[in-house]
Amino acid sequence: MTGPPLPAPDRRRAQLAENLASVRARIDRACVDAGRDPAEVTMVAVTKTYPAGDVVSLAGLGVTDVGENRDQEAAPKAAEVAAAGADVRWHFVGQLQRNKARSVVRYADLVHSVDSVRLAAALGEAADRHRDRPLAALVQVNLDGAADRGGALVDGGDPDREVAAVAAALAGHPRLRLAGVMAVAPLDWAPERAFARLAEVAAGLRADHPDAVVVSAGMSGDLEAAISHGATHVRIGSALLGMRSTLR
Ligand SMILES: *Cc1c(COP(=O)(O)O)cnc(C)c1O
Repeated sequence: MTGPPLPAPDRRRAQLAENLASVRARIDRACVDAGRDPAEVTMVAVTKTYPAGDVVSLAGLGVTDVGENRDQEAAPKAAEVAAAGADVRWHFVGQLQRNKARSVVRYADLVHSVDSVRLAAALGEAADRHRDRPLAALVQVNLDGAADRGGALVDGGDPDREVAAVAAALAGHPRLRLAGVMAVAPLDWAPERAFARLAEVAAGLRADHPDAVVVSAGMSGDLEAAISHGATHVRIGSALLGMRSTLR
């Protein structure tokens, strides 16, 4: 490149534009390979650890959906982005404590990480009091049954954490809308296996809840496998914003 160097904010915007183009190209190619229409796949830009200015830049580049995993970070960031005049849908994708429900329902459009009946109830009560429209939510599915990981369990055990019970709790609350399922591939599973399993769970859920069509699966490293197994939402952080210094 020739010419004077760009000022830092312009350099950052150019970097985001370049990253966005390459992620979009990966999504498009994965859709072609899977015989799917790219319009079926929503890219959620996971902006955790990155500033509100990056969200505003991404919105300016056409990104409509943004994800965060901690309320302490997301709530002020959402306010800052709104104050800057950018309009995006906020996705809450992280582990959620019941005492944060009241805050999250104020800005989130879709909560991906509901993994207990008690959390569903807390969100319903919070949505009733602190929100003027229903809140959409996904059941986060624990694919390998590892007890120390988040996610509702497919095969019984604790009734508070069964997929079917969590789904029923979301579907049964007037202020909530059961929209589908979400999962993170277990680190020691091939992504293909993980997302094939999630697709089975999603199909099982749709038998009882035909409108629960969202499948949130796939991150920077495995979005192709997720799209080949029917993901409607991919959650992309590092491929878009850069590597994070912390492991979250
Ligand atoms: C951080 C995070 C992502 C994005 O991960 P990358 O590998 O950076 O794309 C997706 N989903 C959840 C739940 C996350 O916490």
